[in-house]
Amino acid sequence: MTFSAFALLKNAISGQTGWRPHWRKAEPKPHYDVIVIGGGGHGLATAYYLAKHYGVSNVAVLEKGWIGSGNAGRNTTIIRSNYLLSGNIPFYELSMKLWEGLEQDFNFNAMVSQRGVLNLYHSDAQRDAYVRRGNAMRLHGVDAELLSRDEVRRMAPYLDFDNARFPIQGGLLQRRGGTARHDAVVWGYARGADARGVDIIENCEVLGLRIEGGQVAGVETTRGVIGAKKVGMAVAGNASRVAAMAGLTLPIESYVLQAFVTEGIKPLVDGVITFGAGHFYISQSDKGGLVFGGDLDPFPSYAQRGSLATFTDVAECGMAMMPMLGRLKILRSWGGIMDMSMDGSPIIDRTPVDGLFLNAGWCYGGFKATPASGLTFAHLLATGDLHPAAMAYRLDRFASGTVIDEKGVGATPNLH
Ligand SMILES: Cc1cc2nc3c(=O)[nH]c(=O)nc-3n(C[C@H](O)[C@H](O)[C@H](O)COP(=O)(O)OP(=O)(O)OC[C@H]3O[C@@H](n4cnc5c(N)ncnc54)[C@H](O)[C@@H]3O)c2cc1C
Repeated sequence: MTFSAFALLKNAISGQTGWRPHWRKAEPKPHYDVIVIGGGGHGLATAYYLAKHYGVSNVAVLEKGWIGSGNAGRNTTIIRSNYLLSGNIPFYELSMKLWEGLEQDFNFNAMVSQRGVLNLYHSDAQRDAYVRRGNAMRLHGVDAELLSRDEVRRMAPYLDFDNARFPIQGGLLQRRGGTARHDAVVWGYARGADARGVDIIENCEVLGLRIEGGQVAGVETTRGVIGAKKVGMAVAGNASRVAAMAGLTLPIESYVLQAFVTEGIKPLVDGVITFGAGHFYISQSDKGGLVFGGDLDPFPSYAQRGSLATFTDVAECGMAMMPMLGRLKILRSWGGIMDMSMDGSPIIDRTPVDGLFLNAGWCYGGFKATPASGLTFAHLLATGDLHPAAMAYRLDRFASGTVIDEKGVGATPNLH
C-alpha cells in the first residue's frame, strides 16, 4: 500500500476503510542472517537500510514492548546538524540530508519541518564560541547564521531580552534544522522495512546472548531462542544491560531525561529556541502545545519518569528566557532513559565478540541521528566495515584517547 493523492481521495470517499496495517505481526523464525535488538528509530532504520541499500532482508527486529515505546516515542523531536567537531559534523549533516528526502524515500508523512533552530547567546564569550561553531559548520558546507540581538528580537519578540542576569545578545541560527514527528518516523521505517521482508517482532525481549567460541550464535528471548551469526544492539538506554549479556562493560551510564508539554495555545514559537545560560529548549507542536525540556536528572536511573527537582530547574530556565510561560498549564510530562557516553558522542562499532555490533551512546541527541545511525549501522552489519561518515564513533576511542567531546566536560555524563 502506498500513499498518493489518489489513495487519499479514494479512502476519503470510502469512509477510510481501505487502509491496511503498515507492518505484519511477524512470528519469530528459527534463524535470521541479522538480528537487530531494539525496535526504536535506530533499530528500525537499520533494518530498513539493510534491506533497501544492502539487499539483506532476512532480518528480524526484536522489540521488548511495542515499537517506538522507548526514546523514539519520548523525545522532543528536534533535528539539527549544528555541531563543532569534525568527528560529528559530517555524520549529523548526512542525517540532515537524509531527513530532507526521508518522506519521499519511505513514502510516509514524517512531518519533517525545517522551521529553524536558534541557539541564544548571552555574553561576549558565548558569542565568540558560537562564531567559531558557525564557522566550523560552514567549512563543512552546513548552513549557519549569526544573528544580532535585533534580528533575534524580530524573530521572537516574546523573549526576555533585558533579563537582569541573562540579557540576550544574539543567536546562532540553523535554518535547515527543525522538528519531525517522532512516532511517524518509527512507523515509516517499520513500514518500509516490513515491505522489504524484514520481520518486526514486538513483545519479544532479549534475555540472553548465545556466544559459541567467541562468535555470536543467536539470542535467547521471551519467545524462544533465535539464531543469527550477526546481532546488532540498538537499545539506547538499555545498552549496558544488553551488552552485559555478552560480558561487556560499556563506557555508558543511563540517566533520565524529561520532556514537558503545555496546554495548546495559538501559534507563537515557530522554530526551536534554546536558552544559552542554562539548559532549556522549546518548540511548539502542530496541536499548539509548547514542548520543552532541559537537563537530565543528575543521578543514573532506569526509570522512565523523572524527578520534580529537575522540572523546577527546567521551569526556572524557561521563565528566565520566556516569562510568559508562567501563565501556562503543563498538561503532560514523561521521561526516557538516555545512554550517556563518557564524551557525549555515540558509538557505532564492532565489539570484542565476533558478529556482535554496537549502536549506542546517543545521549539526549539521538533522534536527529536516526537516519544516519540506521544507514551507517546497516553498512557495518552488512560489510563489517565502519561507514566513512561514522569513522570517529569507534568503541576503542576511550582507550586510545581520541574522544569526541563537543562540550569539553570530560567523563561526566550528566554535564554532556
Ligand atoms: C525527553 C527526551 C527528549 C529528547 N529530545 C531529543 C531531541 O529533541 N532531539 C534528538 O535528537 N534526540 C532527543 N532525544 C534522544 C533520542 O530520543 C534518543 O537518543 C534516540 O531516540 C535513541 O535511539 P532509539 O530511537 O533507537 O532508542 P529507543 O526508542 O529507546 O529504542 C530502543 C528500544 O530497545 C528496546 N529494548 C531495550 N532492551 C531490550 C531488550 N532486552 N530486548 C528487546 N528490546 C529491548 C526498548 O524497548 C526500545 O524500544 C530525547 C530523548 C528524551 C527521552
